[in-house]
Amino acid sequence: MSELRRDPITGRWNIFNTDEPLGPDGFEVERHEPSGATCPFCAGNEHLTPPEIYAIRPSTSRANGPGWQLRAVPNKFPALRIEGELGRRGLGLFDLSNGLGAHEVIIETPDHTKQMADLTLQELEQVCGAFKARSLDLRGDRRLKYTLIFKNFGRSAGASLEHTHSQLIALPIVPKRVLEELKGAERYFEFRERCPFCDMIQQELKDDERIICENKGFLAFCPYVSSFPFEIWVLPKTHSSDFAAIAQEPMRDLVRILKEVLVRVRMALSDPPYNFIIQTSPIEPREREEYHWHLELSPKLTRLAGFEWGTGFYINPTPPELAAKVLREVSLPV
Ligand SMILES: [Zn+2]
Ligand SMILES: [Zn+2]
Ligand SMILES: [Zn+2]
Repeated sequence: MSELRRDPITGRWNIFNTDEPLGPDGFEVERHEPSGATCPFCAGNEHLTPPEIYAIRPSTSRANGPGWQLRAVPNKFPALRIEGELGRRGLGLFDLSNGLGAHEVIIETPDHTKQMADLTLQELEQVCGAFKARSLDLRGDRRLKYTLIFKNFGRSAGASLEHTHSQLIALPIVPKRVLEELKGAERYFEFRERCPFCDMIQQELKDDERIICENKGFLAFCPYVSSFPFEIWVLPKTHSSDFAAIAQEPMRDLVRILKEVLVRVRMALSDPPYNFIIQTSPIEPREREEYHWHLELSPKLTRLAGFEWGTGFYINPTPPELAAKVLREVSLPV
């Protein structure tokens, strides 16, 4: 028999193959072929991107010239643009608005050959620092309601350029998937008066079946109701709803655990494509007792099919207990 598990926050169900679960060798992993095309994110090609919004570079170097360690630029093909008015309106029974928002790219290093998993802790701290700085800056814009930070790695995970980068989108609305989590967390909080994510951390520590790794400030595990094989959640152990409020010391713990998770995923699953998202509170109110920011990472190992489309259930061939064991048992390079 397979097993159905219900997510305590969103109420969604997923199906797990517990009879013949797929291990790390059960998937065909896409290879990363170098494209050889001119790369707009490489040092020396700064003129090929829109002008930078944020950069880490020595004071002696000039904006939009070489010498930088990290750059944030507007996306050249933005899904949303920052100029103009929202212009919400109705059209019969439909609602629409202009495509207002921000869409930025964070170029994590000038080095074309590095993946995010290759970045040093110091470089990765600059990347996460840029996530924070850009989130804080966009908060000043009253038209924006939600900021999503995400990364696509590998073509099948949606990355159109191979040079390592992350993205940030600020939206004039709170997206439905976030609302679903927020509403679910509120419902849980209403009768228990506890944050469901804090409870989940306690339970994972107690069960000790799905943990991948941890440090003083953070825990990484495969959630009980994973939608995807080898799905990973990274949560701060202390309650916090707002990613951008992260202080310096927890930031170091986040960077350390993120690096470790990326290396474990690469080693366990033959360098798979992946996506990660950072889910945090909407811009207002940011402080919430019932919500807890977190990073969700999913290697791209399966394709969605009609069943997922039609039901919103996911069929997961790898129970999280097995996924966590595989990821935990990777022997890390010293
Ligand atoms: Zn490049
Ligand atoms: Zn919490
Ligand atoms: Zn989430």
